Amino acid sequence: MKIDEKEIIRQKEIMDKVKTKNPAGLLCKIVTLGCQQNESDSEKLAGMLTKMGYGFTEDSENASLILFNTCAVRENAEKKLFGKIGALKLLKEKNPDLLIGVCGCLPQQKVMEEKFKKSYKFVDIVFGTHSLYRFPEILYKAISDHKAVRDIADIEGEVSEGIPTLRSNGIKAYVSIMYGCNNFCSYCVVPYVRGRERSRDYRDILQEINELSKSGYKEVMLLGQNVNSYSGGLDFANLLKKVSDIEDIERIRFMTSHPKDLSDEVIDIMAERENICNQLHLPVQSGSDRMLEKMNRRYDIEHYMGIVNKLKSKIPDVALSTDIIVGFPGETMEDFEKTMELLKKVRYDTIYSFIYSRRYGTPAYDMPDVMSEEDKHKNFERMLELQNSISLEKNKALVGTVQTVLVEGLSKTNKLMQSGRNEGGKLVHFKGTNDLVGKFVSVKITEVNTWTLTGELI
Ligand code: SAH
Ligand code: SF4
Repeated sequence: MKIDEKEIIRQKEIMDKVKTKNPAGLLCKIVTLGCQQNESDSEKLAGMLTKMGYGFTEDSENASLILFNTCAVRENAEKKLFGKIGALKLLKEKNPDLLIGVCGCLPQQKVMEEKFKKSYKFVDIVFGTHSLYRFPEILYKAISDHKAVRDIADIEGEVSEGIPTLRSNGIKAYVSIMYGCNNFCSYCVVPYVRGRERSRDYRDILQEINELSKSGYKEVMLLGQNVNSYSGGLDFANLLKKVSDIEDIERIRFMTSHPKDLSDEVIDIMAERENICNQLHLPVQSGSDRMLEKMNRRYDIEHYMGIVNKLKSKIPDVALSTDIIVGFPGETMEDFEKTMELLKKVRYDTIYSFIYSRRYGTPAYDMPDVMSEEDKHKNFERMLELQNSISLEKNKALVGTVQTVLVEGLSKTNKLMQSGRNEGGKLVHFKGTNDLVGKFVSVKITEVNTWTLTGELI
């Protein structure tokens, strides 16, 4: 179900009120922490802010509003945030008109409410993921009442359509197809801060992607915590087909796929359709069935390897990536070695690995450890070393091949080179002119390292 359209119209009216109230030229700095879903939410915040008359800056000193869109998945994201906010206290004392806001997953947790009230009184605006669409109203209150606004809705809203979006990239776009998660993996805070699964109506998704295509976008990434359980009037496989039929969208990616729900049909569609990238992020979390059970992942390694083998046989050049948690409570050296074995067997292109972080309110919070923190860190390093050597070997095999690259602009690390990604999602650098941005080019790979490929335009 959608949030009442009238409510969205009301928020739009408030955007106009903020615009008339604010002097021209106000700037906002948005700091986004966390995953692609947060980046996508920040694009909505930026869209609403633009309608409210704000411009954007990277510089805190020039900003009249600094907004942190936060992540709660691991403790270090939390620490990073409080470090950044703490550092702004002085700036706020110097410039009392500066508004500081914190939104997203972190304040959605009940335990955080007290922390903001007691220790971060100088933060003016606090709101959770469930209140995103009400941001104009929250900001308006903070501006007109000159006092802190804390708005943590207990219950997730339904899906909200029609929120303006300001995308940070004109070539590839994130498109959320669903929100929330029903899986309750025992370590994970996401179901608590993002609420239950809600799918967008497929017609709204297709309309959005059609518009993106008309505005010149070439690539879309369909987003959801578990895209394979999409249920917005079609199942995920059929949604993929319809998206793939849209003209001029030449690359389609999607994440995240949960191994328990990825169907053969989706693999077949990936193999059949040219514009669905031969790339998949398939988080495994651990190579040990014992750990997977404690994590409540609801698949075992035999099932997981079944999917990997099917993928590799139907899409031989498929680029695979995964997430791994090291040091989950109860993990022994034997369990860890099973994860190492799995990495050797699957030979992922990339892995995202994390040391387990206890999250208050999750079932794993109280589970006892058997491994010291020191051993967990050693294992983590060993795993990175192994994966780096695999990634490098896989990249070396690409030397001499020609890769199709969607050009995104000058490289962040080498301003003399253009950069873009190949179909598998790997970063490719090459010498080229700015008029290539937004186009597909062929690049012959000449050099590689663990994370990037370099080549020549042909
Ligand atoms: N919905 C996605 C991703 C969720 S969060 C999925 O199911 O794969 C992204 C990754 O963060 C997870 O895959 C997991 O590897 C990691 N993660 C989540 N909670 C964590 C925790 N408490 N400690 C360490 N890593 C965690
Ligand atoms: Fe978290 Fe599991 Fe849901 Fe992913 S599937 S968001 S890891 S609970």
